Amino acid sequence: MAKVKDLFRDYLAKHGLKVTRQREIILEGFMSSPSHLSAEELYLRLRKDHPNIGYATVYRTMKLLADSGIASERHFGDRQTRYEPNTSEDHHYHLICNSCGRIIEFEDAKIETLLQQTAADHQFTLSHQRLELYGLCPSCQGG
Ligand SMILES: [Zn+2]
Ligand SMILES: [Zn+2]
Repeated sequence: MAKVKDLFRDYLAKHGLKVTRQREIILEGFMSSPSHLSAEELYLRLRKDHPNIGYATVYRTMKLLADSGIASERHFGDRQTRYEPNTSEDHHYHLICNSCGRIIEFEDAKIETLLQQTAADHQFTLSHQRLELYGLCPSCQGG
Protein backbone atom coordinates (compact mmCIF):
# COMPACT_ATOMS: atom_id res chain seq x y z
CA MET A 1 0.00 0.00 0.00
CA ALA A 2 2.79 2.42 0.90
CA LYS A 3 4.43 1.71 -2.44
CA VAL A 4 1.22 2.38 -4.35
CA LYS A 5 0.74 5.64 -2.45
CA ASP A 6 4.26 6.74 -3.38
CA LEU A 7 3.63 5.86 -7.02
CA PHE A 8 0.46 7.94 -6.99
CA ARG A 9 2.16 10.89 -5.27
CA ASP A 10 4.98 10.82 -7.81
CA TYR A 11 2.49 10.68 -10.65
CA LEU A 12 0.49 13.64 -9.28
CA ALA A 13 3.65 15.69 -8.69
CA LYS A 14 4.90 14.97 -12.20
CA HIS A 15 1.61 16.20 -13.64
CA GLY A 16 1.42 19.29 -11.45
CA LEU A 17 -1.55 17.91 -9.50
CA LYS A 18 -2.04 18.20 -5.79
CA VAL A 19 -1.99 15.25 -3.40
CA THR A 20 -5.32 15.74 -1.68
CA ARG A 21 -6.81 13.80 1.20
CA GLN A 22 -9.77 12.94 -1.05
CA ARG A 23 -7.56 11.44 -3.73
CA GLU A 24 -5.77 9.36 -1.11
CA ILE A 25 -9.05 8.15 0.36
CA ILE A 26 -10.19 7.10 -3.11
CA LEU A 27 -6.91 5.26 -3.70
CA GLU A 28 -7.22 3.46 -0.35
CA GLY A 29 -10.86 2.64 -1.04
CA PHE A 30 -10.00 1.25 -4.44
CA MET A 31 -7.13 -0.91 -3.16
CA SER A 32 -9.25 -2.35 -0.33
CA SER A 33 -12.40 -3.02 -2.35
CA PRO A 34 -13.32 -6.08 -4.34
CA SER A 35 -11.92 -6.01 -7.85
CA HIS A 36 -13.77 -4.90 -10.99
CA LEU A 37 -15.67 -1.98 -9.50
CA SER A 38 -16.86 0.84 -11.72
CA ALA A 39 -16.23 4.43 -10.59
CA GLU A 40 -19.90 4.63 -9.63
CA GLU A 41 -19.75 1.49 -7.48
CA LEU A 42 -16.63 2.76 -5.73
CA TYR A 43 -18.33 6.11 -5.17
CA LEU A 44 -21.33 4.38 -3.57
CA ARG A 45 -19.03 2.40 -1.26
CA LEU A 46 -17.06 5.47 -0.21
CA ARG A 47 -20.13 7.61 0.29
CA LYS A 48 -21.05 5.91 3.57
CA ASP A 49 -17.90 7.06 5.35
CA HIS A 50 -17.02 10.02 3.17
CA PRO A 51 -20.19 11.84 2.13
CA ASN A 52 -18.12 14.87 1.07
CA ILE A 53 -16.47 13.03 -1.83
CA GLY A 54 -18.47 13.57 -5.01
CA TYR A 55 -18.92 11.20 -7.91
CA ALA A 56 -16.97 13.46 -10.29
CA THR A 57 -13.94 13.35 -7.99
CA VAL A 58 -14.05 9.55 -7.81
CA TYR A 59 -14.48 9.35 -11.58
CA ARG A 60 -11.54 11.66 -12.31
CA THR A 61 -9.33 10.03 -9.69
CA MET A 62 -9.94 6.58 -11.18
CA LYS A 63 -8.86 7.97 -14.56
CA LEU A 64 -5.68 9.26 -12.90
CA LEU A 65 -5.06 5.87 -11.29
CA ALA A 66 -5.44 4.22 -14.67
CA ASP A 67 -3.13 6.77 -16.34
CA SER A 68 -0.52 6.26 -13.66
CA GLY A 69 -0.57 2.50 -14.21
CA ILE A 70 -1.82 1.72 -10.69
CA ALA A 71 -5.21 0.56 -11.95
CA SER A 72 -6.16 -1.05 -15.19
CA GLU A 73 -9.39 -0.31 -16.98
CA ARG A 74 -11.46 -3.23 -18.09
CA HIS A 75 -14.53 -3.49 -20.28
CA PHE A 76 -16.55 -6.64 -19.87
CA GLY A 77 -19.35 -6.53 -22.38
CA ASP A 78 -21.51 -3.97 -20.57
CA ARG A 79 -20.81 -0.28 -21.12
CA GLN A 80 -19.21 0.16 -17.72
CA THR A 81 -15.53 0.85 -17.29
CA ARG A 82 -14.32 -1.29 -14.42
CA TYR A 83 -11.05 -1.06 -12.55
CA GLU A 84 -8.71 -3.51 -10.99
CA PRO A 85 -5.31 -3.10 -9.39
CA ASN A 86 -2.59 -3.53 -11.97
CA THR A 87 -0.07 -6.06 -10.80
CA SER A 88 2.14 -7.30 -13.57
CA GLU A 89 2.96 -10.66 -12.01
CA ASP A 90 -0.66 -11.54 -11.41
CA HIS A 91 -2.06 -13.24 -14.48
CA HIS A 92 -5.68 -13.96 -13.84
CA TYR A 93 -8.42 -14.51 -16.33
CA HIS A 94 -12.12 -13.77 -16.29
CA LEU A 95 -15.37 -15.62 -16.77
CA ILE A 96 -18.21 -13.14 -17.35
CA CYS A 97 -21.91 -13.95 -17.10
CA ASN A 98 -23.93 -12.45 -19.96
CA SER A 99 -27.06 -12.40 -17.87
CA CYS A 100 -26.22 -11.07 -14.38
CA GLY A 101 -22.79 -9.59 -15.13
CA ARG A 102 -21.06 -11.67 -12.47
CA ILE A 103 -17.29 -11.78 -12.97
CA ILE A 104 -15.34 -14.79 -11.78
CA GLU A 105 -11.56 -14.70 -11.73
CA PHE A 106 -9.42 -17.75 -12.22
CA GLU A 107 -5.79 -18.60 -12.69
CA ASP A 108 -4.48 -21.52 -14.64
CA ALA A 109 -0.83 -22.41 -15.00
CA LYS A 110 -1.53 -24.49 -18.11
CA ILE A 111 -3.15 -21.55 -19.91
CA GLU A 112 -0.32 -19.31 -18.78
CA THR A 113 2.28 -21.69 -20.21
CA LEU A 114 0.31 -22.07 -23.42
CA LEU A 115 0.05 -18.30 -23.92
CA GLN A 116 3.76 -17.80 -23.22
CA GLN A 117 4.57 -20.55 -25.70
CA THR A 118 2.23 -19.06 -28.32
CA ALA A 119 3.92 -15.68 -27.93
CA ALA A 120 7.37 -17.28 -28.20
CA ASP A 121 6.31 -19.21 -31.32
CA HIS A 122 5.54 -15.87 -32.97
CA GLN A 123 8.71 -14.17 -31.65
CA PHE A 124 6.48 -11.97 -29.54
CA THR A 125 7.55 -10.31 -26.30
CA LEU A 126 4.49 -10.18 -24.08
CA SER A 127 3.57 -6.97 -22.30
CA HIS A 128 0.26 -8.12 -20.85
CA GLN A 129 -2.43 -10.63 -21.52
CA ARG A 130 -6.20 -10.79 -21.37
CA LEU A 131 -8.55 -13.70 -21.52
CA GLU A 132 -12.26 -13.26 -21.13
CA LEU A 133 -14.79 -16.07 -21.42
CA TYR A 134 -18.45 -15.12 -21.77
CA GLY A 135 -21.47 -17.29 -21.01
CA LEU A 136 -23.95 -18.05 -18.26
CA CYS A 137 -23.03 -18.57 -14.61
CA PRO A 138 -24.56 -21.50 -12.68
CA SER A 139 -27.39 -19.42 -11.19
CA CYS A 140 -28.40 -18.01 -14.60
CA GLN A 141 -28.61 -21.36 -16.36
CA GLY A 142 -31.95 -22.30 -14.85
CA GLY A 143 -34.29 -20.65 -17.31
ZN1 LIG B 1 -25.27 -14.99 -14.02
ZN1 LIG C 1 -9.89 -9.37 -12.56
